[in-house]
Amino acid sequence: MICLTFDTDHMSEARMRTWLAGCRMPGRATFFCTEPFHFLADEAGHEIAPHPFLDDRSNWDEELAKWRAHLPEAKCWRAHSLVFSQLLGVKIGKLGYTIASTVDVFGRPDISPFLVPWGVWQMPIFYMDNNDFNRPEFGTLGEYRVFDPRFIEMAVNGSGVHVFDFHPIHYELNTPSYAYYVEKKPAFKAGAPVETLRYGGYGTRNFFDDLVRAMDAEGQASMTLPAALDSWRRQHGDLSYAVPVGKSDREHSA
Ligand SMILES: [Zn+2]
Repeated sequence: MICLTFDTDHMSEARMRTWLAGCRMPGRATFFCTEPFHFLADEAGHEIAPHPFLDDRSNWDEELAKWRAHLPEAKCWRAHSLVFSQLLGVKIGKLGYTIASTVDVFGRPDISPFLVPWGVWQMPIFYMDNNDFNRPEFGTLGEYRVFDPRFIEMAVNGSGVHVFDFHPIHYELNTPSYAYYVEKKPAFKAGAPVETLRYGGYGTRNFFDDLVRAMDAEGQASMTLPAALDSWRRQHGDLSYAVPVGKSDREHSA
């Protein structure tokens, strides 16, 4: 299974609409929204969920409550920079979210959802665009190939649930590297025509389009995170292990 997910950082609604119109996407995606972009669900049939910004100065409870009010039906949750903790798991579980997608297990072959005892299911991230092109900056690896087509092959041919995390801004800029992003972001945010900012070589946009081409060739469509989780649980039985599950989980397995 493949789940395309997107974090909408630095996108306006107008930018989102332009991007969506120009981006071929098989199936349904999950959008982690920096603003409540309801049109993604209402007009395009995608799943929408919050992408709150939690830093050490913000009031986390206030931020969680604000987003719950913006998207009262949302089931999924992902904070900017993948902020998560046991306490946050409890809080978002109590707010009615059932899925967090905040664990980064880049490129791991045996990837599948797991139930966090602290309230929610985790649907780990298999591939994240800025994790990929930032990797040379981290200086923690030797030889590393950015945009390695093997990630696409693994996802299209592998079992499990492969969550891809892309950023529409990187698709629009065709971001190839962190340095390129830092250079072009101010003009993008100021509203400059995206064609004048887009990278001409191979970048995030090309990698995404190659992924979609491979999905199309195999007849695979993206699933939303809740749909993929339901399907995965049906295939694997109720692997909630011995962990006491919430009411909705018991109803689910009944
Ligand atoms: Zn973000």
